[in-house]
Amino acid sequence: MNGLECPQCGAVRIVKNGHAHTGKQRYLCRFCGHQFTLGPIWHRISAETIALVDRLLTERISHRGICRVTGVSRSWFRLHLQQLTRSVPHDFDAPASSAKKA
Ligand SMILES: [Zn+2]
Repeated sequence: MNGLECPQCGAVRIVKNGHAHTGKQRYLCRFCGHQFTLGPIWHRISAETIALVDRLLTERISHRGICRVTGVSRSWFRLHLQQLTRSVPHDFDAPASSAKKA
């Protein structure tokens, strides 16, 4: 009853789910199990911009170039890529400099 919608499935059965390490309130969708935090970043990016980002991604333009052209932040872009790689079966060869697999 907090007026929240799941960014994944649009359901409104959202419960609080602790806090992210950044101190932000985390939420859990009871419907699909998606966990998320509320950030202005997701609400400021229009669907058109997201569509443009997705199209540019298929053009093999550098990630920095995409951010520059579309005006999205690098942090938003990284989150967006994470979501894509989770939902798309084939892997992106993103230059993940800091990510190491143990
Ligand atoms: Zn959901």
